[in-house]
Amino acid sequence: MSRWILHVDMNNFYASVECMFNPALKDVPMVVGGDEQARHGIVLSKNEIAKTRYGIQTGEVLWKVRQRCPHILVVQPDMEKYLKISRMAMEIYGEYSDRVESFGLDEAWIDTTHFGKKDSVHVADALREKIRKELGVTASVGVSFNKIFAKLGSDMKKPDATTVLSEENYRNLVWPQPVSSLLFVGRATEKRLSRLGIETIGDLACYEKALLRTSLGKWGEILWSYANGLDCTPVAPKDIHDQIKSIGNSTTTPRDLRCEDDVKLVLYRLADQVAGRLRANGLCGSTICLSVRDCMLHTFERQCRVHYPTQLSGEIALAAFSLFRKNYNWQHPVRSVGIRITDFEENPNVQLDLFGCAYRRDRTIKLETTLDKIRNRFGNQILYRASMMTAPEITDIALHQEYTRTGI
Ligand SMILES: [Mg+2]
Repeated sequence: MSRWILHVDMNNFYASVECMFNPALKDVPMVVGGDEQARHGIVLSKNEIAKTRYGIQTGEVLWKVRQRCPHILVVQPDMEKYLKISRMAMEIYGEYSDRVESFGLDEAWIDTTHFGKKDSVHVADALREKIRKELGVTASVGVSFNKIFAKLGSDMKKPDATTVLSEENYRNLVWPQPVSSLLFVGRATEKRLSRLGIETIGDLACYEKALLRTSLGKWGEILWSYANGLDCTPVAPKDIHDQIKSIGNSTTTPRDLRCEDDVKLVLYRLADQVAGRLRANGLCGSTICLSVRDCMLHTFERQCRVHYPTQLSGEIALAAFSLFRKNYNWQHPVRSVGIRITDFEENPNVQLDLFGCAYRRDRTIKLETTLDKIRNRFGNQILYRASMMTAPEITDIALHQEYTRTGI
């Protein structure tokens, strides 16, 4: 029996969410991007005017964008906001199917086989309308008999459109597309395929499978099956995909960090953020990962396990700092650092101990939870550690928020 799968892709997601919260942003060219001064300035998302009138693309460097559009408005990303809308979208999808698989914050597959073909198309249209009305953003939906073509369909018409790729029409609609529009065909694969004379998905589909295997191995065969509409991977059940796998923050500081005290301050700043987000999600983590990049752009990552699963900034910062001291040899100044927590538990059982550590810990948890409440109400900058005032030029910084989730 033929399957029916939708792939929903919310258009220009970060920028659209910002425009929804502040409609005035719709009427000016605007991008969501990193901080230009703090050296992590690329376009993460752009609004419709920036895209159509100035040809601005995701991934472009901000200073280049400014050359073409000097009055571009750059908004800092606010991942908590995007995550919230993403969760609300997942709830809407869940009303139609119990097989919903997220793919990043703004995309998801939904298995609608139980609706049949005709009604799957109606569901696609209904979903777009619901997302537009309830979340204030638009989405493109691809409807097809496998995940790969559904994803391709959602890319074909934007914004706010449904594209159906069926067993009957895929040769006409999918095959003329460039092979790079197929999911998982990156630049390297595209080049290798091009050397074989394969430029379109149709070229790939009609190529001798055995020859593809010789030049690209098993991967060649998999891509061939994608091009022929033979992908049969299922859409995963929704509950296993909504779990957060890691929470992290990283930053590139406005000036390079030249001593341990500098690094320690920034690590405390990061740990405060990470711990607050752990608490907001009701999670404690046992593994602390530290990432460091020096000014020559050498990067390394080290991790350790802590004694008890934690959501306390002091414990996270100490673990990260001790990883740093053990592993950094100061050949060069440090340009960016990040902290990430994994191995979560929801309600860890901390063993009571003889020396009252558990009691003291409990009080620290209460203190930090109170700080969260105050920050939630009055803003993140209202309360910070006194030590941060010793070097505001490196601690008064925008932090990148990172989430990873289970699933692909
Ligand atoms: Mg999108």
